[in-house]
Amino acid sequence: MSEATRQVTEADRRPSTFPAHAFAAASATSGFRPLTIPRRSAGPQDVQIEILYCGVCHSDMHQVRNEWVSVMPTVYPCVPGHEIVGRVVKAGNAVKKFKEGDLAAVGCMVDSCRTCENCRAGLEVYCETPGGLILTYNGTDKYLGGVTYGGYSDSIVVDEAFVLRVSDKLSLAGTAPLLCAGITTYSPMRHWKVSKGQKVGIVGLGGLGHMGVKFAHALGAHVVLFTTSPNKVADGRRLGADEVVVSKNAEEVQKHAGSFHFILDAVSAEHDLNTYLSLLKRDGTMVLVGAPEKPLPVSSFALLFGRHSLSGSAIGGIRETQEMLDFCAEHNIASDIELIRMQQIDEAYDRLARGDVKYRFVIDMASLKS
Ligand SMILES: [Zn+2]
Ligand SMILES: [Zn+2]
Repeated sequence: MSEATRQVTEADRRPSTFPAHAFAAASATSGFRPLTIPRRSAGPQDVQIEILYCGVCHSDMHQVRNEWVSVMPTVYPCVPGHEIVGRVVKAGNAVKKFKEGDLAAVGCMVDSCRTCENCRAGLEVYCETPGGLILTYNGTDKYLGGVTYGGYSDSIVVDEAFVLRVSDKLSLAGTAPLLCAGITTYSPMRHWKVSKGQKVGIVGLGGLGHMGVKFAHALGAHVVLFTTSPNKVADGRRLGADEVVVSKNAEEVQKHAGSFHFILDAVSAEHDLNTYLSLLKRDGTMVLVGAPEKPLPVSSFALLFGRHSLSGSAIGGIRETQEMLDFCAEHNIASDIELIRMQQIDEAYDRLARGDVKYRFVIDMASLKS
């Protein structure tokens, strides 16, 4: 085989592409600009989705601003977005779950090794194979090379194994945040079996916390929300909390000592874990789903007395994400959102950094066309 022939073969292995409109950050400080990106043409197992809505997650901001440089350095241009809802415009000939015109969603991952113990258990997010887990953006694009581009775009092509079915019963825009904020809070509640008759604490009322309150309430628990903001008390109750405690009031917090079966800590800023650990009942568990930049000190005593557990949880697997979406359709649960135009994204990030959103920004992708 001649050099020339071999080169042609290599190139042939790369799928053909089509151009998609997107908004991308050129650097950590550039803000967003329109950019045309290539998407692969749908292969036999692929679903091509016209993106209608994409949620704006805290992770998007951290990634764009390269704040996770030691763990996941950002490759620019960066097109974030992993709370994607849209309509199938093309389904490959081997696709079973979807047909043209169906609603569909994509969350934080677009592929994994699919063969390791965790993948086979439906826990793809914990894929053990190095490089196996492919995140929706800033991941390794094994089809086109370079990095994957996320949902701040009018189109995405994903293997059907990583595409979720979406009910038309819920607001589509309010469904988008379920793909990250939803599954991140639902998964630990299912794993630790939150149920009727239990007392559940939710710490922090933001994008994650507000979904936590809704799920804990829907699962039948007695829900106590802890928030630093007195002006979120009424909202907390509206979202489903039975009690709302302003956490700056130490006396109010201590009234709940030793009483919780389960606490979901959704705070991503520095805060005192030990106060909340002491609120657990014997054998109670506190789960962290927020990701503060710096390590947080834990007192052994807060764990020893009461045999308390401290754990963490990341997103959720594909099977459970589908279960969560079905649960939401059944219980009429969606995210409380503020719909924005793509062009407002820089302003939205500034507001997100200040915690000024109730409770998730969602981009209306129709604005990309205007
Ligand atoms: Zn996210
Ligand atoms: Zn795996």
